[in-house]
Amino acid sequence: MLGKTKSETAAGAATQGEALNYGLLRRAMVEEQIRRRGIVAPRVLAAMREVPRHEFVPLELAVLAYDDQPLPIGEGQTISQPLMVAAMTEALELTGSERVLEVGTGSGYQAAILSRLAREVHTVENHAALAAAAAERLERLGCSIVRVHTGDGTLGLEEFAPFDAIVVTAAAPRIPPPLVEQLAEGGRLIIPVGGSQQQELLRLRNSGGKTEREVLHYCRFVPLVGLFGWNGRFE
Ligand code: SAH
Repeated sequence: MLGKTKSETAAGAATQGEALNYGLLRRAMVEEQIRRRGIVAPRVLAAMREVPRHEFVPLELAVLAYDDQPLPIGEGQTISQPLMVAAMTEALELTGSERVLEVGTGSGYQAAILSRLAREVHTVENHAALAAAAAERLERLGCSIVRVHTGDGTLGLEEFAPFDAIVVTAAAPRIPPPLVEQLAEGGRLIIPVGGSQQQELLRLRNSGGKTEREVLHYCRFVPLVGLFGWNGRFE
């Protein structure tokens, strides 16, 4: 046989012909982009291996779903890079018993990952069309513990508070006070805070009524809008 053989690379083998092997691409993604770059939590790695990321992107981008990058999902929004989803999820320190809030449902991918690691997941999206598409997709994929809400996530979700873990997947100009107020004792809030080009990924921990704050690393997200977001009343 001349030239490259089918089995020279995992991606090469997976993209041969019509039988696109997403499972193979997904395992390669976890190994090369996520585990090799320092994500160690076994449950997070397992969830990333299981959730079919290609189901969360527009059909024409499905072949790129396991690449090392964010992708457009419509309405000017993006599904985050796989490594970022894994890093934020690991930082939440989920054991399986938690009630979790996500702000910024987008495609629903992060929520699907969370649904494998927690007891109850609420996710809020301000774009009604994205929220509806994500809800339909999550239901179809059997992520039954996720509830999708349409609205301004900077207000949190008073009705279902307190939360053991909150993750904000859009860049905030400052920390929205309602999210801190809705953290349970010991609860963790992961949020990118900063300007439009770059943000610090912060972890806040509600410990005995005090809020401990750590900077995890730098990141770049689409803007968080809403009352406590960009262009909000308190910006
Ligand atoms: N977690 C998503 C990616 C999110 S992109 C995924 O896994 O696909 C950020 C999302 O936050 C966008 O969909 C944007 O519409 C949404 N967003 C921005 N401001 C918001 C707000 N105040 N409340 C709820 N969602 C918001």
